[in-house]
Amino acid sequence: MIVKERSIPARIFSLEVLSERLLISHPKVPLIQQDLMKVSAGYKGEKAVSYYLDFLPPNDTFIFHSPRLPSGKHYFQIDYLILTQRFALILECKNFYGTLYFDQSFNQLIRTANDKEEGFQDPISQAKWQQQQLRQWLYNNNIQLPIEFFVVISNPSTILKTNPQNQHALKKVIHGHSLLEKIEEVNQRYKIEHLDMTRIRKLNKQLLKSHTPDSFNALDRYGIRPEEIITGVRCPNCGHLPMMRAKRTWLCPKCGAKDRQAHVKALQDYFYLMGSSITNKQFRDFVHLESEDTAQKMLKTLNLSHSGEYKARIYHKPDRDLL
Ligand SMILES: [Zn+2]
Repeated sequence: MIVKERSIPARIFSLEVLSERLLISHPKVPLIQQDLMKVSAGYKGEKAVSYYLDFLPPNDTFIFHSPRLPSGKHYFQIDYLILTQRFALILECKNFYGTLYFDQSFNQLIRTANDKEEGFQDPISQAKWQQQQLRQWLYNNNIQLPIEFFVVISNPSTILKTNPQNQHALKKVIHGHSLLEKIEEVNQRYKIEHLDMTRIRKLNKQLLKSHTPDSFNALDRYGIRPEEIITGVRCPNCGHLPMMRAKRTWLCPKCGAKDRQAHVKALQDYFYLMGSSITNKQFRDFVHLESEDTAQKMLKTLNLSHSGEYKARIYHKPDRDLL
C-alpha cells in the first residue's frame, strides 16, 4: 500500500522557473541547468523504481516516497522507505548510465561513460548513513525494527563492477529489474513480527506527521538577487516575455496570441521563486499590471487563502499548484 505518494519534487519546478526567468547570458544559468538535469535524472530513476513497487503485496507492505525526517538539528531523506511488520527497507535510487565501479577502499563510485571518468559519492555509504539515521528515528519513537537497504540502479544497461575482495558490495547494489526478487530474499530472512497492525498504522501516521518538505530557496542557493529575475507574463504560445495587458486579456506583442489566464502561470512562478505569499502591489509589479482592481479580481478568482484586510491583504501560496 502506498502511504506517501510520489510527486514531482518542487525543486525541479523552482529550477525550471529560475532558468527561464534569468537572462540567457546570466553566469549562473549553466550551473542551474546542470543541477536541473541532475535532479530530473534522480526523479526519473525513482519513477522507474516505483513501477516494480506496484507489484508488492498491498496489505502488509507500506511504501513511503521521499520521506524527509528530522535528525537532531538536521533532516535525512530516503528515496523509498518500505515498512513491513518484520523489517524496514531503504531504497536509494540512482539513475547512472555507463559503467559503475564501486571502490569500497575509498568509499567512492567511479563512473566511466563516453571515455570519461567521473567520481561520485558512494551510494552504499549514503544508504548506510540513512540506515543509521532511520534506526535513531525509530528508536526515538520506541520502535525496534531491523533495517535493510539496497542501492537500486534504475537504468538496466548500466554495468556494475567492483574489485574481487568487495563482492559483497554488489549484493547491496542491484538493478531495478531484480528488486522484487531481492525484496523476497529479505522477506524470507526476517520471520519475526516486531509490530502488530495497530502499531504499524501508528508508525505510518507518525512518519507522515514527521515528514518535513524541503524548503528550497532557489535565489539563496545560487546567490541571485530578486532584481535579477525577469518579471512579466509569458506568452503560452511562443514563450515571449512579457505579454502586454489589453482589454480584459493578455496580448503577446510578438505573435499576437491572446490569453485571459496567462497571469496564473506567472503567479505560480512568483510563488516558486520569490516567496510563499504576495500582496496586490507585488503581484502588479510582477505581472506588469497597473489596475489595482483588476489585480484584486484576478487574485480573488484564484481562491487563495489570505490574511489582513484591504491594501494590507496578503495572499498565500496554495498547497497544490495553481495549474
Ligand atoms: Zn507569443
